[in-house]
Amino acid sequence: MQSIKLENEKKNIIVIGTGGTIAGTGEEGVTSSYDSAQVKVDKLISDIPALESVANVTSKNLFSVDSCDISWSHLTKLAKYINNSSEKSDVDGFVVTHGTDTLEETAYFLNLILKTNKPVVLTGSMRPGTAISADGPFNLYQAVSLAASNQSANKGVLVAFSDQIYGARDVSKINTFRTDAFNPKDLGCLGYMRDNQALFYNESTKLHTLNTEFNITDIKNVPKVEILMFYADASKELLDFAASTCDGIVIAGAGSGGSSIEWDSKISDIIKKGIPVVRASRISNGLITHSDSEINVKGIYAGNLSPQKSRILLTLGLTKTKSLEELQRIFNTY
Ligand code: ASP
Repeated sequence: MQSIKLENEKKNIIVIGTGGTIAGTGEEGVTSSYDSAQVKVDKLISDIPALESVANVTSKNLFSVDSCDISWSHLTKLAKYINNSSEKSDVDGFVVTHGTDTLEETAYFLNLILKTNKPVVLTGSMRPGTAISADGPFNLYQAVSLAASNQSANKGVLVAFSDQIYGARDVSKINTFRTDAFNPKDLGCLGYMRDNQALFYNESTKLHTLNTEFNITDIKNVPKVEILMFYADASKELLDFAASTCDGIVIAGAGSGGSSIEWDSKISDIIKKGIPVVRASRISNGLITHSDSEINVKGIYAGNLSPQKSRILLTLGLTKTKSLEELQRIFNTY
């Protein structure tokens, strides 16, 4: 359980390194030529002396990868490490340094699976440490400050990036190179970081962490779920391939989840064979809904979850059930 300390009492925060550009090094001064995941997290911390006044920081470099190489086994290792460490009474919160490319998937996964109410904050950077005006140190400083704030407990997994606080469920990377690379699309951020001060204004309404039905220790076999994007003239053989290899499929459909007559009919055949299909959209704003009576033909509707976050949720959902109605309930809940 969270031991509530006074706001002015220093918290014990573990910073977990996983790699990414924040741990990247490259050609001196430039932002475009570098290798990610080169520096261990203890070095990232020791390069920010100001952290000492914010929290008692310890570190654990769990792995060093570009976030495009994050696999289910990395996610499992991370979740188990945080769950186990959060049981220690002298640990007050966590920061995870992570590559930005798939940060939103890891954040949502942790939001669904962690069994702690202690703050967990992900951050990263768009520029390697060797760039002029690298953004990593300030993002890390703000992430530790956020994890050390009394206001951050019970809020689900958070992301601190470029002066803003985001909820794990709704945050997305929306820019390929600018330092202000994240936002929650139609929905507002949860709040702002002003130097080391956290200012919250919003909260996610969806269930998370202690209040979900998912637990990492229950998962023995990980269902295989892939995403297929629909585009004009997409060949239906892609669906045959996915159906022959997957336990579940997410469609990144056009507009409000749509696809061609050929795809629609193939998708309903796949659903009839017992392979759940989720309809998400390749469009970044808005949402997908249809009537519940149509889920046996069109598939489960993703609401406003992106295809990549739908894949995380469908994978976890399939560890519990193959029932379309139950999976739809899960999509409506988280
Ligand atoms: N490719 C890098 C990664 O996701 C990009 C970054 O961290 O900004 O690991």
